[in-house]
Amino acid sequence: MFKQLLSQWPLMQQIRTGADGTGPESMSSRTRSLRPKNDGAEVARSVCPYCGVGCGQLVYHKEGKLISIEGDPESPISRGHLCPKGADTYELHTHPGRLSKVKYRAPYSSRWQEMELEQAMSMVADRVWETRDRTFQETREGETLMQTTAIAHLGGATLDNEENYLIKKLFSAGLGMVCISNQARI
Ligand code: SF4
Repeated sequence: MFKQLLSQWPLMQQIRTGADGTGPESMSSRTRSLRPKNDGAEVARSVCPYCGVGCGQLVYHKEGKLISIEGDPESPISRGHLCPKGADTYELHTHPGRLSKVKYRAPYSSRWQEMELEQAMSMVADRVWETRDRTFQETREGETLMQTTAIAHLGGATLDNEENYLIKKLFSAGLGMVCISNQARI
């Protein structure tokens, strides 16, 4: 028993193999049995949701559970790197303190109240439509105008080309908005 324990001792293994102590000979059996957290996980390619740089991410998941999110070495944009915000994307999904309900603060109120997403979306739609109705200009100095400058839209970096195309169509052709931009053009 003692002999067996002694032979497993990394120093003995180093002496026996003549290795320099930087390889497997310096590992304990516990260290040898450790596996990476992504071992056996499936991986999906994605893009960091935070900013217009669009760094590539690898999303590891196993049995429907998120395991980790890491930089994608094959991304021509970021070559495996993520800034501190992008490196925290895992917690964006998993942190117990993340907000998962809409918070609404009424005008002049100092309190936030929780609201169902459906109700919040209806309130936004009502306000957009009311503002558009109130501020829409059909003509100016005899010229056709058909626009409102009272509403603006700023798209986020994770919107893809198709979504941006539809946003532009809806808000300019549909609502007459002229102030439309996207964070991803930085
Ligand atoms: S990792 Fe950082 S730099 Fe890259 S897209 Fe995300 S927020 Fe932007």
